[in-house]
Amino acid sequence: MAKAKYIHTNVLIVGGGLSGLALAGTLGEAGIDCVCIDRAPPVTQLAEAYDGRTTAISYASHLVLRTAGVWDTLLPDCAPILDIRVADGNSPLYLHFDSETDGDKNPFGWIIENRILRHRLFNNIKRLKKHVRHIAPAEIKKFIRGKSAAGVVLKDGTEITAPLMIGADGRSSAVRAWLGIDVKTLDYQQSAIVCNVAHELDHESAAVEHFRPAGPFAVLPMTDIANGGHRSSIVWTEHGGDVKDILSLSAEDFDARLQDLFGPHLGEVHHISKPMSYPLGLLHAERYTGDRVALMAEAAHAIHPIAGQGLNLSLRDVAALTELIVAHLRCGLDIGGGALLRQYEAARRGDTLLMAGVTDVLNRLFSNNLKTIRVFRDLGLGMVQKIPPLKRYFARQAMGLSGIMPNMLRKEQI
Ligand SMILES: Cc1cc2nc3c(=O)[nH]c(=O)nc-3n(C[C@H](O)[C@H](O)[C@H](O)COP(=O)(O)OP(=O)(O)OC[C@H]3O[C@@H](n4cnc5c(N)ncnc54)[C@H](O)[C@@H]3O)c2cc1C
Repeated sequence: MAKAKYIHTNVLIVGGGLSGLALAGTLGEAGIDCVCIDRAPPVTQLAEAYDGRTTAISYASHLVLRTAGVWDTLLPDCAPILDIRVADGNSPLYLHFDSETDGDKNPFGWIIENRILRHRLFNNIKRLKKHVRHIAPAEIKKFIRGKSAAGVVLKDGTEITAPLMIGADGRSSAVRAWLGIDVKTLDYQQSAIVCNVAHELDHESAAVEHFRPAGPFAVLPMTDIANGGHRSSIVWTEHGGDVKDILSLSAEDFDARLQDLFGPHLGEVHHISKPMSYPLGLLHAERYTGDRVALMAEAAHAIHPIAGQGLNLSLRDVAALTELIVAHLRCGLDIGGGALLRQYEAARRGDTLLMAGVTDVLNRLFSNNLKTIRVFRDLGLGMVQKIPPLKRYFARQAMGLSGIMPNMLRKEQI
């Protein structure tokens, strides 16, 4: 029988999705030893069928990815967002943000395929192997906790402990369940269909969001294809029950539906990746911490993608945790102690609750066809368009440069 291994590290990250891998990167770059475990091997996580989404990385979030040491390798595959256009269905009222005038001349953000982001994050932690150890697949047999450490025993007998364990294991977090933390959930009864779409005309780096009664339809600019063809990704929200029918349409019928939604502004369109769907729901954990454990990203909070902010919010968790861990280690303090956990909870709870509330209200306000609500929201859109300080406020929101920001997002040293 093989001898069981014992690993003790500074930080144990359970869940190596986009958020867990980003945290492993920022910790590794700061010279802090960590182990990141995931139940799925990289080859599964990099398969096309695993995740067909793209992510809008806000301007502020790119600073976190830069601190993780991965940004420069991502940039060639990122398409900048220089323009944001918001339309209420087919209403002539159009809210238009231009990064040159509204956004400090920096892009609002960038669009990248999740598969590429994940691939680069994997390569990044390989580069940081002096400090980061990645174990995947890793099946957890049980969680353990002592006086000065928490950890896991894997099915192969390996025991991993650390003064601080992070639950980054997604919506159905086993770490959260082990801590006995309840969640508030809300099923939006909507699903998002995502795929990549080729189109005749250049998108000119514009992200467009149309609000429709069933939910938003977003067109997000992507980098050109190798032959110079143009492409965008879509997030097409529909009532949950209608999605199955849409996904079973023939390729021609699906493209005809797409053409209706796109309208004429990008010329002829057709999908170039397999359409996939994601059910949408809100989730919020009643606590983000337990004894020697902190929850982050979708293990703690998941929101509606109406504003493309879920991962951006999680990268703020990454920034806050990294800063607190670095500061505590510098002062020789216990990184799994109550002080760090309390500061983390205080730093992140308000910000995530605010974003969860804003996205929930936006979805309720825009995903319906009630005449009175339409009148008021069109008035609201018109007002934002005409009042420069209000418009600038929303532009900074889109860039992730507002709310309670960790220092990393203010370009301050950690
Ligand atoms: C349609 C759609 C569009 C979106 N668009 C955007 C956008 O434009 N911008 C944005 O910021 N956000 C966006 N989001 C949100 C974003 O995609 C998610 O927030 C993000 O992918 C979640 O990452 P995560 O690391 O928290 O969780 P996950 O990706 O769920 O990762 C959790 C990891 O933990 C592992 N795991 C689970 N259980 C265990 C266990 N017991 N043991 C070991 N490992 C385990 C899993 O294998 C997985 O790798 C969108 C979401 C949707 C649905």
